[in-house]
Amino acid sequence: MVEVGLGGDMTAAYEAKEWIEAKKEGRKMTTSCCPAFISMIRHQFPKIYENNKSSTVSPMVAVSRYLKVMNPDCITVFVGPCVAKKGETLNEFIADRPDYAITFDEMLDLFESKNIEIEAVNEDYQESSTWGKKFAGLEVIEEMGEDVSDIKLLPCAGGAECRKALMLLNSGRLPEDFVEGMMCPGGCVGGPSRLGAEKEITKARAGLLAKADRRKILENLENYPMDKFSMYRDGHMD
Ligand code: SF4
Repeated sequence: MVEVGLGGDMTAAYEAKEWIEAKKEGRKMTTSCCPAFISMIRHQFPKIYENNKSSTVSPMVAVSRYLKVMNPDCITVFVGPCVAKKGETLNEFIADRPDYAITFDEMLDLFESKNIEIEAVNEDYQESSTWGKKFAGLEVIEEMGEDVSDIKLLPCAGGAECRKALMLLNSGRLPEDFVEGMMCPGGCVGGPSRLGAEKEITKARAGLLAKADRRKILENLENYPMDKFSMYRDGHMD
């Protein structure tokens, strides 16, 4: 089992490189971690899909590629609150996709059907940085030694907010530099297969984040073979 926050570190680091380039060129960009947001861009805003979408893979794909480099015969299964990830595993535009994605509910049903009882894990266990767990792009840009004081980020959560931001970007009227789009209200904590009320999950998550160590994104990635696999949707290497 690998914490997908590690993929958050990987995606944030590579997306940050794209953002830095885009900022220099005066080009605005969108994030790539939410497959439902990408799907909205692809089907409704083809100009943005072509010119402004990040080409970095999502955290789920990043972790799967890492695992397959370490063990080429392994089968990868993403477990989370998201239904759109299932579509991402079938998306022909993404090279070397994960094998399967299941929801928390489906995983629990599988365990129950096999009479498997699960035990709590040690909460000190972690593989990602605090920023990877939060999927924080600006912090990694800062870690790269770049000035972030004039970067304007627009976080959007929920279909209406995402659509509004994309319409502004499409018409050239978006004041911000980057759009961070998550299709569920509240982001992934509001995912359709979350196990509990969004408020409770947000509180539990904040508690775990407070206990996380303060390692940084690039510092954490030094422990992983980032030169052995592609972090881009089409599978090209740097
Ligand atoms: S915001 Fe919702 S649709 Fe997007 S990745 Fe998270 S759970 Fe999936």
